[in-house]
Amino acid sequence: MRMSRLVEEIYRTMSYEAVIGLEVHAQLLTNSKIFCGCSAAFGGAPNTHVCPICLGMPGVLPVLNKRAISYTMRMALAVGGRIAEVSQFARKNYFYPDLPKGYQISQYDRAGEPVSIGGAVEIETDDGSHFIRLRRIHVEEEAGKSIHDEPGYISGQSYIDYNRAGVPLIEIVSEPDIETPQQAAAFLTRLRQLVQYIGVCDGNMEEGSMRCDANVSVRKPGDPLGELAEIKNLNSIRAVERAITYEVERQIEAKNNGADIIRETRAWDEATKQTFSTRSKEEASDYRYFPDPDLVSLEIDRNWVEQINAELPELPHIRQARFESQYQLPQATAQTLTETRDRADYFEEVAEIHDDTRTVGNWMLSELLRVQNEQSLDSHELYRRIPAARFASLLQKMKEEEISGKIAKDVLDKMAISGDDPGTIIEAEGLRQISDSGAIESIVKEAIAANPSEAEAYCAGKTKLIGFFVGQVMKATKGQANPKLVNELLRKHLT
Ligand code: ADP
Ligand code: MG
Ligand code: ZN
Repeated sequence: MRMSRLVEEIYRTMSYEAVIGLEVHAQLLTNSKIFCGCSAAFGGAPNTHVCPICLGMPGVLPVLNKRAISYTMRMALAVGGRIAEVSQFARKNYFYPDLPKGYQISQYDRAGEPVSIGGAVEIETDDGSHFIRLRRIHVEEEAGKSIHDEPGYISGQSYIDYNRAGVPLIEIVSEPDIETPQQAAAFLTRLRQLVQYIGVCDGNMEEGSMRCDANVSVRKPGDPLGELAEIKNLNSIRAVERAITYEVERQIEAKNNGADIIRETRAWDEATKQTFSTRSKEEASDYRYFPDPDLVSLEIDRNWVEQINAELPELPHIRQARFESQYQLPQATAQTLTETRDRADYFEEVAEIHDDTRTVGNWMLSELLRVQNEQSLDSHELYRRIPAARFASLLQKMKEEEISGKIAKDVLDKMAISGDDPGTIIEAEGLRQISDSGAIESIVKEAIAANPSEAEAYCAGKTKLIGFFVGQVMKATKGQANPKLVNELLRKHLT
């Protein structure tokens, strides 16, 4: 059937929409590798965390690391996935120097179930909140690392480090529910927050313990899905956003020029800010997946699932809602406070001691973050130098007017440098607020006497000059006079 002219015209000018699905790899924080006892720690001298199993020697047998599976189950439960009763490992065959066996042990839908099926995560972007469904979370082993032309190595030669080979990974595969580069960035940010909260991955994208492949296609609204390009190995959230933005534009331009999008693998070049083709995308059949005969199928006991569910910590969005109601915090404050688990824990420790929870939240997000940035401390070090009880004690001293808010900020700076408690700093530096009205009164009188023309102007109606006199008294007392008293006494004497 032919479309009417009008419909044809509308269709022609209709803009394209992007369809995006992410495959996110996260290295699990186990002590040992997934199929052998070698250390899974990051780094180490090349080829020191290796054994015949992870080097793929003939005749060896893999033994599955139980903790790798329990961590995968934690993630599954955190995103509402269904945990398979029976899960299966499969061989994904391909040849590459970083893959010593010639195959990667992974999982594949059509060769038995992956550990987790389905689930979803919620994200917030400027255009609202969205549910991104997950296809699956499967477990696999990490490959080794090829080294070409790096400092310390002979140029023109290739090296291989197998320390990473066999480190456990989960791959979190989304449905193509993502519509914009910003949503993709928010999705990845959310997953990174989740894996860190539940302690299964450090989320460190610089060290490669988390990275992602982005599948991108474009279509006109209502059309079937377009052919996709897969951008491999994006290793920062910013790169994900930029690479997808570029790729969507490239595909729209190609289509507008009448070209076809071909299914291919592309890479992101940070220098030119472009994606470029690396190879035509392999189909699943290229990998000749089949169940790994060296590994028995994995039966996951429901009691084990229950146990892991019971041990799961409170998840960030639930904790955020609780912070809003329990501590009377605005949504934005609760969201920032629960962004990381250590920050949320710290807040709750302080709030346990100091009941003005709004002040605790505000001071954490303004002053504590300021000190952290100014002194370039990571949060672990910040919280070590300023333990929750001491932060609470500082806020308490401010509330009881032992020190002013301004002095409290200075004391906080010093706490972060020396690690001392606020009481010690206040005593040692004589910072205690002057609340002795006799002492302040004489300084007030001096300030008035020293500035007769301002005093006259004040009395004639320029009452804004009160600020000038407060400033004079504060200067004379190094900021330590109780501001409320200063104001009262100035008004009394400026007549
Ligand atoms: P598999 O690798 O499981 O065989 P696909 O290669 O079809 O499946 O899907 C891998 C990823 O690509 C998934 O994250 C999925 O959401 C995404 N995806 C699938 N089709 C498209 C498409 N047309 N456009 C963008 N992303 C897609
Ligand atoms: Mg794939
Ligand atoms: Zn090993």
